[in-house]
Amino acid sequence: MKEVFTGSFTQQEPIPETAIDAALAVMRSGRLHRYNTVPGEAGEVALLEQEFAAWTGARYCLAVASGGYAIATALRALGVGPGDRVLTNAFTLAPVPGAIASVGAVPVFVGVTEGLTIDLDDLAAKADQADVLLLSHMRGHICDMDALMAICDALGLKVIEDCAHTMGAFWGDVPSGRHGIAACYSTQTYKHMNSGEGGLLISDDADVMARAVMLSGSYMLFDRHLAGPPPEAFADLKYQTPNISGRMDNLRAAILRPQLRDIETQVARWNTRYRVVEDGLRDTPGLTLIHRPQQEAFVGSSIQFLLLDWSANRIADLLAACAARGVELKWFGGAEPSGFTSRYDSWRYAPSAPMPDTDRILRAIIDMRLPLTFSEADCALIARIIRDEVLALTA
Ligand SMILES: *Cc1c(COP(=O)(O)O)cnc(C)c1O
Repeated sequence: MKEVFTGSFTQQEPIPETAIDAALAVMRSGRLHRYNTVPGEAGEVALLEQEFAAWTGARYCLAVASGGYAIATALRALGVGPGDRVLTNAFTLAPVPGAIASVGAVPVFVGVTEGLTIDLDDLAAKADQADVLLLSHMRGHICDMDALMAICDALGLKVIEDCAHTMGAFWGDVPSGRHGIAACYSTQTYKHMNSGEGGLLISDDADVMARAVMLSGSYMLFDRHLAGPPPEAFADLKYQTPNISGRMDNLRAAILRPQLRDIETQVARWNTRYRVVEDGLRDTPGLTLIHRPQQEAFVGSSIQFLLLDWSANRIADLLAACAARGVELKWFGGAEPSGFTSRYDSWRYAPSAPMPDTDRILRAIIDMRLPLTFSEADCALIARIIRDEVLALTA
């Protein structure tokens, strides 16, 4: 009898009871809008911003409606506008090129390595085409940040980090999101904290953050931000910056604050699950695990492996065989975009020259979520199923 996995790859843990209580308190108050506070009250959003800034070590933090909104706001705050080109990863998810397109700018895709990080040689070769790099730490893989920043500093590229998959990760002893001029996080259900939708933007740059606060829809209430720049930073900007409303509300912030207090525990739980799957897949012929550099303290909320030079048909057979046994694998290499996955050449609003080395890797990437609702035994079972089916197809 073949083993079958019966769990759900899309089922996250419930919202903690403390967060539910905090949400109920906000609802009972009726004050859901971040600026609807009574004298002496800070508001959940302002407190979340203060706590997230403290946790990441950033000077400033702004909570917004989504991760994609945070990225678009960071781009606008850096002055990126219609017709500008923005460098970004070829291996990422649709909200990243989408955020670039939302400000009228044009993505220039940079290739991916076998480590699933940005190809630094390709970056250096394309650097003269743009002033900004939107660096996506896709699926939590962090490139050599010291090497990347050396290239970007030397060439005058400003870096915005997309930390949707690296909230809680580090490169060396620097938290992910603390290398560039600004960093963006998502609190959408499938990320590391869950408020359904939501985003966070951090920066040490008072001018960038003052613009972001105004853009997000602060009206002239920016002095209510506990983790915003001082009033002087708004002196001219408040007349010049359009309001493109995308605020976070107190209800979501109330749900997030208790989750932030628990995040390090959650990171450890993800990594335990990741290591179980990784160990179970090790030394499977035909399957390449992703090397994780020693300086990279990642968050294993998903795992990837490569099926290098497998034909599309054989990959499709593997996915079907695993699916029949309850294991949902995603393939980034599919010619047609499907579910959450799509490829740089399927974003047809952003034309790109083919990148053969990158295409070979994208065609090989298999991706799997590791929700915390999986037990370690579940993870071991999942790895056994994948290994079995890979062996059956490569025998
Ligand atoms: C989820 C995600 C985003 C944006 O998040 P939303 O909150 O859904 O807008 C950005 N980048 C990556 C890589 C993501 O996975």
